[in-house]
Amino acid sequence: MQQIETKKNLGFSQIEPPETPCSSSKCPFHGTLRVRKRLRRATLVSTKMQHSGVVRLSRLVYVPKYKRFKRVTNKISLHIPDCLVVQPGQTIVYAECRPLAKTIAHVALQVEVQR
Ligand SMILES: [Zn+2]
Repeated sequence: MQQIETKKNLGFSQIEPPETPCSSSKCPFHGTLRVRKRLRRATLVSTKMQHSGVVRLSRLVYVPKYKRFKRVTNKISLHIPDCLVVQPGQTIVYAECRPLAKTIAHVALQVEVQR
């Protein structure tokens, strides 16, 4: 099969498609995966699964009884396309997509540049 080297424009002005091409159909740049039009950012905590990663989100929830805030964390599993090289600790820009696996409905788009 002939591989077509086309990069899709996702419509996000901040997102640059990766340099290396890939042949995965679950890639938003080189495959057929469509993403929802809202970018999110979170810190990657694990890349132990194949083609996947885990980000941690934390927010403050007010507890009226103690008149204080407690920190609540949630973890979200992301699909990481083959053309993206990521490491735990990096800030990942990601977006929602269709369910790709039982727990995966988000896809990583870019590694946030550290300044
Ligand atoms: Zn790709």
